Amino acid sequence: MNIAGIISDSIVDGPGLRTTVFFQGCAHKCKGCHNPETHSFGTATEMSASEIIEKVKKNPLCRGVTLSGGDPVYQAAEAKELAKVLKAKGYEVALYTGFTWEELITEKNEDRLELLRNVDILIDGRFEIEKRTLELKFRGSSNQRIIESKKSMQQFDTDGTIEPILCTQKRWVG
Ligand code: SF4
Repeated sequence: MNIAGIISDSIVDGPGLRTTVFFQGCAHKCKGCHNPETHSFGTATEMSASEIIEKVKKNPLCRGVTLSGGDPVYQAAEAKELAKVLKAKGYEVALYTGFTWEELITEKNEDRLELLRNVDILIDGRFEIEKRTLELKFRGSSNQRIIESKKSMQQFDTDGTIEPILCTQKRWVG
């Protein structure tokens, strides 16, 4: 994976003490983006899933891992494998993407769908500066949603429901 950086003690990318993995590469071009240095593709550090997991394990207080960027969805084939191992090790996995849930569900890219099956929480949608807010937890603009990704995919796989299940967990949205 092409990784822009890793922060081992984040408190702004989800509840509790988390490790945040910033993926390199994003083509959404949101006006007012805070991470423009992560837009170009393939220009940062190549890291394997096991190298990233070793870094995550170094902080024994870390219970959750957030995949951010850039946009990890552009590297879904590798990100899905990373998410699977993190889930197996008991971490809560969250993912930030500039795509909307509906865009990801309807394009039917199997790597991206499998990534959605292996993350607990998805924060979706581009940053829209006109909808910028400081009121909503863990979101930059009010169009972005906090979605129960794994549960929504179980529903989609069972009966084809496209509409996502929105997260109501107080620690995420309270
Ligand atoms: S999706 Fe995120 S990283 Fe990409 S341009 Fe928008 S705000 Fe920036």
